[in-house]
Amino acid sequence: MTREDARALDAADPIAPFRDRFALPDGVIYLDGNSLGALPRSVPVALADAAQRQWGTRLIRSWNEGWIDVPQRLGAKIAPLIGAAADEVIVGDTTSTHLFKAIVAALRHHSGRRTVVSEAGNFPTDLHIAEGAVACVPGARLKVVERAALADALDDDTALLLLTHVHYKTSERFDLAGWTARAHAAGALMLWDFSHSVGAVRLDVTAAEADMAVGCTYKFLNGGPGAPAFLYVARRHQAALANPISGWMGHAEPFAFQDGYRPADGMKRWLVGTPSILAMASLEVALDLWTGIDEDALATKSAALFAILAQAGAAAGLSCVSPADPAARGSHISFRAPYAYALTQALIARGVIGDFRDPDILRLGLTPLYLSHEDVWQAGEHLRAIVATEEWRDPAFSTRNAVT
Ligand SMILES: *Cc1c(COP(=O)(O)O)cnc(C)c1O
Repeated sequence: MTREDARALDAADPIAPFRDRFALPDGVIYLDGNSLGALPRSVPVALADAAQRQWGTRLIRSWNEGWIDVPQRLGAKIAPLIGAAADEVIVGDTTSTHLFKAIVAALRHHSGRRTVVSEAGNFPTDLHIAEGAVACVPGARLKVVERAALADALDDDTALLLLTHVHYKTSERFDLAGWTARAHAAGALMLWDFSHSVGAVRLDVTAAEADMAVGCTYKFLNGGPGAPAFLYVARRHQAALANPISGWMGHAEPFAFQDGYRPADGMKRWLVGTPSILAMASLEVALDLWTGIDEDALATKSAALFAILAQAGAAAGLSCVSPADPAARGSHISFRAPYAYALTQALIARGVIGDFRDPDILRLGLTPLYLSHEDVWQAGEHLRAIVATEEWRDPAFSTRNAVT
């Protein structure tokens, strides 16, 4: 691959025009959009309107002028990205909070079954929340096993299988329909975490018959730091599953101000408190970027970007831990090296922003909306140069920051 080859791919790239919709700083090749998506140019405009006009001028009247329905409205915008119907998704809270609600709901629904099964090495919050959630349900327990032992761990005590669809470190992807079917065959419900999948790979919860799913909006969806998360509950379960955090916004009639809790119908019951309007204002316009995106072109470009870095990593002698088959991975590439932390810092010093995942992973996010093939080729050249010259050995690159 030469710079000219990369430019030729860019010239033929149907997604290339999307780059102009993002405000990216000069001199930076941003390979961390899987951790914090880049800033869409429409966001500062929307935030200013939400603050100055909606809040400043319209004041409390704005609740009836579009604010109160924003969790459902944003849910409907995320729905097509995961293959759900508009009324099966709601936005609010964090992925962590949605995980808690969904796990407890599943355990209470399946009162005869007491075990939640998940994968060792799953994203930490998924396991931490599962630990806390089972502690809230009498008799419930959490079984965490290696990937190879997951199928055998499912039995007639399994209430729920909780899996993260694309692994945050390795980029390995579970077969959505296959694992959902395995959970169902064991009599369990299936809860997916799509934090590293949504906006990265094609998802179809309807075809897969998934029961519940959660996911982040500040990674590939570019909603902004700490943007509210989404929850999907299949329509067939909506009446039977109950939100254990029974807040007033999930009440059937919040403004009837009743003492007793009566859940709303549909997805509204999963709301807890007052929606975070300013954060949702950013997310709403970030989601509008996805209207009409060709998912096949996205997948093709993701695979091409991956191939460029895989080649550069191999030339540098780095060991790639991400699957070679595009259908078996997400949209990031990870390399394992004992000096991965210093390597990440040396890349950042050259303007190539990726991240490090403890203990030895260099992770590079591939976001087809705002990366060109030439950007990624250039990043690969920096990677090769840093390894070849051992530039990473500079002691300045070994000082650990709080956020890696
Ligand atoms: C990023 C991520 C989260 C983040 O959860 P928050 O509650 O938003 O902090 C959860 N799960 C997975 C798999 C993630 O990748």
